[in-house]
Amino acid sequence: MSTNEHIITRIAPSPTGFFHMGTLRTALFCYLYARKHDGKYLLRIEDTDKIRSKKEFEDDILESLKWLGIEHDAFFRQSEHLSEHKIYLQKLIDEDKAYISREESKENAGEMREVIRFRNKSETVTFHDLILGDVTVDTSDLGDFVIAKDFDTPLYNFAVVVDDCNANITHVIRGQDHVPNTPRQILLYKALDKPVPAFAHIPLILAPDKQKLSKRKHGESVAVSTYRKNGYLPEALINFMALIGWNPGTEQEIFSLKGLVEAFTLERVQKSPGVFNLDKLNWINKEHMKLLPIEEQEKRVFEFLPESVTNLPHFNTEKMRTLVPNIIERIEKFGDVRTMGDGGELTFFFETPTLVRDSLVFKGSTADEGKTHLLEAQAILTNLGESDWTIETIKSAIMAYADTLPKRGPALHPLRYALSGLERSPDPFTIANAIGKTETLHRIQNALTILA
Ligand code: GLU
Repeated sequence: MSTNEHIITRIAPSPTGFFHMGTLRTALFCYLYARKHDGKYLLRIEDTDKIRSKKEFEDDILESLKWLGIEHDAFFRQSEHLSEHKIYLQKLIDEDKAYISREESKENAGEMREVIRFRNKSETVTFHDLILGDVTVDTSDLGDFVIAKDFDTPLYNFAVVVDDCNANITHVIRGQDHVPNTPRQILLYKALDKPVPAFAHIPLILAPDKQKLSKRKHGESVAVSTYRKNGYLPEALINFMALIGWNPGTEQEIFSLKGLVEAFTLERVQKSPGVFNLDKLNWINKEHMKLLPIEEQEKRVFEFLPESVTNLPHFNTEKMRTLVPNIIERIEKFGDVRTMGDGGELTFFFETPTLVRDSLVFKGSTADEGKTHLLEAQAILTNLGESDWTIETIKSAIMAYADTLPKRGPALHPLRYALSGLERSPDPFTIANAIGKTETLHRIQNALTILA
């Protein structure tokens, strides 16, 4: 048996909001650490706040983690453990380590209520954080802190300690925003005569504006579901999040989940906050997109293809399939396919465009010059056999001509525009290949008619 086999980590999200990037990264680090050491990783939904906890948020947490492929070994809801919480509350009271206090409510002045307070002996607590190093806190400022509103309503610090004890959690890996809770929790472990787990507080994530990433300030951009909807790959999101606050110590930037398990160490988690950089996410996503087998790329492109494209009179699935490599080059995430399609950037592949005379002529060139080049392209492409009709052969035939000119633009622009009818579009070879020889010559003829 390896010495690490007993390692148990947990992610403990509260279902009081949608699953967000911060929780994703904590879950990921807990998962990586457990898998790396052949340990276990648990998911505990902390649903004791009856008013703010919602089923839809729990569903979002579970679905998001499933989509990401972060699989847990066991699942609990904190609310299932209320009887345990009660037993331990009673134990602390019986041992005079906690007491029921009758006091005026802070919320409603004049109203008396009972709470359960921990009898704090005001010790100095020191713990060795696996990321932050030794942390020493004088707990006298905490006073006799409240651990439960009543026997049925334990507060976070108490419930979390009981649950972590019962699940034999060995490593509590969570965000640095929880550091102030840790001394309270350590006092409770000691009062309950339970072993104190190891702590690793991971650095916060800052938004590009350098503010702490928060649901309130940054809205849907922190929701994992937003990235799913926008066609990011789960493996890319994981790869990106792993690199916020951690680095492998090598130049490698593209990792699979399995690769991350192998490379991950808590020693390489930094103390200072990491920044959420969307450009980097887009770059990583593109790298992962390129790694997908062509069938997977096709499947996802079709998944995001909008009706504005599929409902075109001459839409054709086979032709669409041949466009996938070109589309992959032009997008950063699969959601871009929707934007492209709705923006008319795919229409010309299926429908003959309507051309505008002025747009056919290259800037600084003339209509006559445009006509000469188009006639030349027409001749070249007419001579190209149907069986030679590939992007490469079309390109080398046209470029052989364009390269004889002082500049390629005056020849390539009218051809590209004739085929796409757009100021910006893929190169003319890609389009000619996709629409076929007959349609290519038809569109060149249209352009020549306009220029005549
Ligand atoms: N429910 C807490 C949260 O969502 C868990 C904190 C912890 O990991 O102890 O922040």
